[in-house]
Amino acid sequence: MREKRQPALFLNPVFKQMIWGGNRLGTEWKYQIPGDHVGECWAVSARQGGDCTVKNGIYKGYTLSELWEKKPELFGNMGLDRFPLLIKILDAKKDLSIQVHPDDTYANLHENGSLGKAEWWYVLDCPENAEMVFGHNARNKEELSDMINNGRWKEFIRKISVKKGDIIQNEPGTVHAITAGLLLLEVQQNSDITYRVYDYDRLSDGKLRQLHIKESLDVITVPARPEAECREKTDGLPQNKLNLLISCEFYKIWKLDITTPFVMKQDQPFMIMSVIEGEGLIDGQKIQKGDHFILPAEYGEAYLQGNMQIIISTCNPEK
Ligand code: ZN
Repeated sequence: MREKRQPALFLNPVFKQMIWGGNRLGTEWKYQIPGDHVGECWAVSARQGGDCTVKNGIYKGYTLSELWEKKPELFGNMGLDRFPLLIKILDAKKDLSIQVHPDDTYANLHENGSLGKAEWWYVLDCPENAEMVFGHNARNKEELSDMINNGRWKEFIRKISVKKGDIIQNEPGTVHAITAGLLLLEVQQNSDITYRVYDYDRLSDGKLRQLHIKESLDVITVPARPEAECREKTDGLPQNKLNLLISCEFYKIWKLDITTPFVMKQDQPFMIMSVIEGEGLIDGQKIQKGDHFILPAEYGEAYLQGNMQIIISTCNPEK
């Protein structure tokens, strides 16, 4: 096999304890987690407070943000001021609050030049008959503000059913809440701007958590997009083939189910590989469920074998 000009970058994930988190990232994903309320695994992150470091090889110990800055050629010299994506695994043991994210324009203006937040989910696991909050039932801005200001939550909230293997595109402006029992792979813009619309009047340390009503009313899309446009199934996708799941202005994502040896061309600025099931080899190196690594720009062809499912994501270079 030809020597690689650049190695695959395996990353050390960072874990975040959350009041809604659980322990499945330890019990089922075999990560070394720091407690029993771990809600988020930041698997590929260049954010302050969760900047992943490279596990091994010539770049061992570098943070992803450092590499992005000092070795832009690894990522196809995209000329962006920050690594554009953030990949997480979420373990919701309890319901999360109902939230909405701004788009780039609003975040740039109101959140010190931050990016907005579009996010995409792959449902890794969920209970039978699971539902999540997604969208709302207000028909116009007036009704929206009346429902929110007067706490007409039952009328306001729209729920959608979710199944293992579903994919959901959460555009900025979409009211949403992840519910108890969901385990999700999340690909999102590198941002953490979240506006809390409603927290079920729950108390945290004896107090209500802060809501962001004005910002929420500013950014919520009215009317909500129809449910059928938000969610798709992935069952029955062909194996040993790159299946494009989504291409939007922020990211492009594929699913690859390997059952026989497969040669994959790395023809993107970079490819983030997240192994979500099974195990196998990439160019002779062992990989398994829970591994996340980046194939840099000049990686060339990857020779994959084994029995595994991989979600592959990249920044959309056409943007
Ligand atoms: Zn969100």
